[in-house]
Amino acid sequence: MSITLDQVTKRYQGAPVVNDVSLEVAEGEFFVLLGPSGSGKSTLLRSIAGLSGVDHGRITLHGRDVTHVSARHRGVGLVFQNYALFKHMSVGENIEFALRVRRMKAAERVKRRKELLRLVALEGMDDRLPTQLSGGQQQRVAVARALAHKPQVLLLDEPFGALDAKIREELRRTIRQVQRELKITTVLVTHDQEEAFALADRIGVMNLGRLLETGRPDELYARPATRFVATFLGAANLLLARQTVQGIRFGAMPVRAHPSEKVDDAREHEVVAVVRPEEVELAPTRDALRTNFIAKGVVEEIMFTGALERLRVRLTNGAVDAQLVSTSSDNRPSSATLDVTRTQYEQRAFPLTLQQSVAIGIRRIHVLPTPLSSYTACAASTDAAQRLARHPFLTELASRMKTRIAVRVEEGLAHAEAYTAAKDPISGVAVISAQTNVGRQIEWLLRNGAQEMLVLPAQSPAPQRVLIHWADDHARRSTLAVAASLLRHVPAEAVYLGILPGAGDDLQRPIGVRTLLDARTEAQAVHGLEMRTELHFGSAAEEVQRRLSEMPDQMLILGVSSIQQVREFSVLFQAPAAHSFMLVYRSSKETEPSARVESVRETVAVGERAAIHR
Ligand code: ADP
Ligand code: MG
Repeated sequence: MSITLDQVTKRYQGAPVVNDVSLEVAEGEFFVLLGPSGSGKSTLLRSIAGLSGVDHGRITLHGRDVTHVSARHRGVGLVFQNYALFKHMSVGENIEFALRVRRMKAAERVKRRKELLRLVALEGMDDRLPTQLSGGQQQRVAVARALAHKPQVLLLDEPFGALDAKIREELRRTIRQVQRELKITTVLVTHDQEEAFALADRIGVMNLGRLLETGRPDELYARPATRFVATFLGAANLLLARQTVQGIRFGAMPVRAHPSEKVDDAREHEVVAVVRPEEVELAPTRDALRTNFIAKGVVEEIMFTGALERLRVRLTNGAVDAQLVSTSSDNRPSSATLDVTRTQYEQRAFPLTLQQSVAIGIRRIHVLPTPLSSYTACAASTDAAQRLARHPFLTELASRMKTRIAVRVEEGLAHAEAYTAAKDPISGVAVISAQTNVGRQIEWLLRNGAQEMLVLPAQSPAPQRVLIHWADDHARRSTLAVAASLLRHVPAEAVYLGILPGAGDDLQRPIGVRTLLDARTEAQAVHGLEMRTELHFGSAAEEVQRRLSEMPDQMLILGVSSIQQVREFSVLFQAPAAHSFMLVYRSSKETEPSARVESVRETVAVGERAAIHR
């Protein structure tokens, strides 16, 4: 491995701006770190370069631990957005600067300079001053200068930022050629998805300080694991759908006739589906569709963009309306429109005008592995439910997850000990407010089919730390899946608490350490979640309680597999609970949770057999 990051964390004013990032970049690889402004890309790159220290974690370059090595001795070349050339030095002098410092002989320096200028296509420009060069040319000089001392790693931070479109493209090509020719391991930071696609062997997407996913550009585009990556890499329609034994269903419409062999969990549940605009088919009538019909719609917007036509279609079919989450192109939550793109060929075959009615089909859908689909604020009165739906932490979470908060009034919650049946089965995350009889309410929700419950005290700030614990192994996998999904949307540190009964004698410790390692490995490998681990001994409820009471801005994610276990943790629910917590319930009577859809990244080419990934 050329670059290895192991749980690198950097905090400013206590808040992690780079949060437990682990990454391996192979020898000669072109790796692009992609993310919105403020996501921590530059901070991470500076840490690799040695320009800023880290608060936690380890950085290895070519097998050498450089975590505490100064920038000068790390053997990296750096290029920033602002050219940062020495203004009073010629191009040649700029390039030779690093070589002079390293006392290279004059003849060798000249040779190297010529080589580098050829490499960046600036032959003969040796004597120009930076002011006599265009922005693009200055940036080429910066690249040549960064490569002069033959670094083993090249780091570039938004190197095209200040250039106009055409120059960017030329420079992009140059950088790619240089990188291929030298086979130098390269990390480039950008917020521009197109740039990432054009350059990367592999992309890592960052948001809120976390590295969410890494993968080949085409893989990340076709099979993202997270909402963020799905919507940040290109446009995507996010839809709520139902996973059933018959397949995926939107409203009343099954989009796949064949039963899926992988989903053993017979219980129908809500999932988040990604539909790319180019995978939507429009036709005059339902019968004219080549793909499965999902709804009827009306064309609301048409935009011509050259090769492609972009449309926004409002769904008119009531059953499906409620299932839509949002469209991403402008991040405006929209309850019932679908973004569609069509090629010239499709346009000619079926010309469209505004307000025209269409039948809508879907060529391909991709189901995200997230277990958190939507939120439902539950309370015994309309007032209380609506108040809860406006809870700042909940609204922030839902908005980041681009999902909806439904409101549900259940009188049964007021006298929860009676265990009445809910009006309909509960889907998505049931949210309740932390109050005196919260333990009872949790039991009531569990008996009515809830599997994830979010309990919110009236005053609960966004957490800085999220504690994770499961009461037994049946709930492990689901709890990790929920934790990974939640933590992608919350800039907090994740800590797994492994708790063993007993006093922690020498016999128990190795078992405990083993448990922690397994938990961390599974979190990383299956869910892409980086977390710290802690080992405690004693009563689980008391240990969790003790750790929670240390600091206010914490949240708990607790996995249980029986109502009895919920009761064992009742000390945590006694009013007034000061911390938010998410309860994950997976009955030990169900099949091993690995068969559940949340662990499966599923892509469905409609009409074909399902391809199951991971
Ligand atoms: P990106 O490069 O992805 O735009 P940065 O790594 O520059 O993001 O910044 C990530 C976050 O860290 C931002 O919220 C930024 O304000 C904060 N930050 C960066 N540098 C400092 C600093 N020296 N002091 C305090 N906060 C900082
Ligand atoms: Mg930056």
